[in-house]
Amino acid sequence: MIVNPPKITVLGCSGSYAKKGGACTGFLVQSPGANVWLDAGPGTLGNLQKHIEISDLTAIVLTHEHADHWLELPVVYNAIRHYVMCGQIPVYGTQGTMKLAKQMCPVLEEAFNWNVIKDGSREVIGDQSWRWSQTDHYVETVASRVEVGESSFVFTADTGPNWDVNTLGESVSLAISESTFLACKEDEGILHLSARQAAELAKKIKADHLVLSHLAPGEDRVQHENQASEVFDGRITVATAGDQYSF
Ligand SMILES: [Zn+2]
Repeated sequence: MIVNPPKITVLGCSGSYAKKGGACTGFLVQSPGANVWLDAGPGTLGNLQKHIEISDLTAIVLTHEHADHWLELPVVYNAIRHYVMCGQIPVYGTQGTMKLAKQMCPVLEEAFNWNVIKDGSREVIGDQSWRWSQTDHYVETVASRVEVGESSFVFTADTGPNWDVNTLGESVSLAISESTFLACKEDEGILHLSARQAAELAKKIKADHLVLSHLAPGEDRVQHENQASEVFDGRITVATAGDQYSF
């Protein structure tokens, strides 16, 4: 399958739990040489298969062990062991996520080849160069930067405001940031970002396009976009499952 230029498809973007008819966090990152599933939140497997077959996956990247970011993996395990028979899929995930996955998938290696990632890890997956930076969250969590030739994007995963996005460099075409709540909650010490903080981050990394994701169910999309646009001058999109963005 030739995918040129590289693109990202939103498989789910609800924060913490799925909104009505929605799915938790997940993206499909496609380039001419790789199909990578970035975060496998509940509800994203069905959406993934609208675009590719499970056997077409080059790898799966999991940012952290919170349930809304990876719990489709034990279901993919069922699929690979009993139905799809495509052999091991490489998984790049944190130590904590691997520990939980081993509890739920007793013979993990029958479906997956697990590679532990942490702050500073780098991997080349097909024609995609990935690197990770540990964020400011309740459990070990990694943000990702992906480069394909001259194209690049950053995905914050989950983070509080004390993570420095520039640990992943500068100047990206696309920044997908969590935007869990509005500015009125910033003082509560929650290790997630507001729309305003997401916009600060996009400005700092000189993104052309900011995508706001991980909105908690019930959040007002228009207010998220408005608060972000007060800070960031580039293009802003509030994510919807099925959206595709080139980068
Ligand atoms: Zn989390």
